[in-house]
Amino acid sequence: MRSEMESIIYNKIEIVRGDITKLNVDAIVNAANTSLLGGGGVDGAIHRAAGHELLDYCRKLNGCRTGESKITPGYKLPANFVIHTVGPVWRGGAQNEPMLLQSCYKTSLTLAVENKIKTIAFPAISTGIYSYPVYDAAKIAVRTTLDFLQNNSSIEKVIFVCFDERTFHVYKEVIEEL
Ligand code: ADP
Repeated sequence: MRSEMESIIYNKIEIVRGDITKLNVDAIVNAANTSLLGGGGVDGAIHRAAGHELLDYCRKLNGCRTGESKITPGYKLPANFVIHTVGPVWRGGAQNEPMLLQSCYKTSLTLAVENKIKTIAFPAISTGIYSYPVYDAAKIAVRTTLDFLQNNSSIEKVIFVCFDERTFHVYKEVIEEL
């Protein structure tokens, strides 16, 4: 018989390669910066796809602290909501980066539950411009999510969206190693 953990991995977690802005899910997560006013990488792509109304809404939010998350509508995106979370900048690993990254996943998933979101997609937070090592970040992403799903059954699907082939393989490896 499969353990509960294996069942969650099998039924509720998906790793896909692609562009998060195209996904038809209840919410996509944005790897934002503390200003919440847009930036490069996935943040820029999400703002471009959602349209200017997203920026207008974000202007009223007074930014967001590292490790925390805020929710907005998705506007022109296929997703109904965007959960903006601010990952840590990698500064060598001794500046609380793992705890802050873990907090991004926890606070995003908590907001998802509070907003009755059933399907949610995450990019590989902090692993682009913020330089977090991909393997370490993927381990935190998968383990924190698994832990959360073991205690909250309302979320039906969590998709980890990998923009490049290497990130995709790293996530696969992390899942296999669990
Ligand atoms: P951060 O500043 O948190 O490092 P980035 O946006 O620079 O955020 O990168 C986070 C991850 O998102 C990287 O793996 C990057 O390749 C990926 N990414 C960039 N654009 C997209 C997109 N449209 N969909 C999904 N992932 C994306």
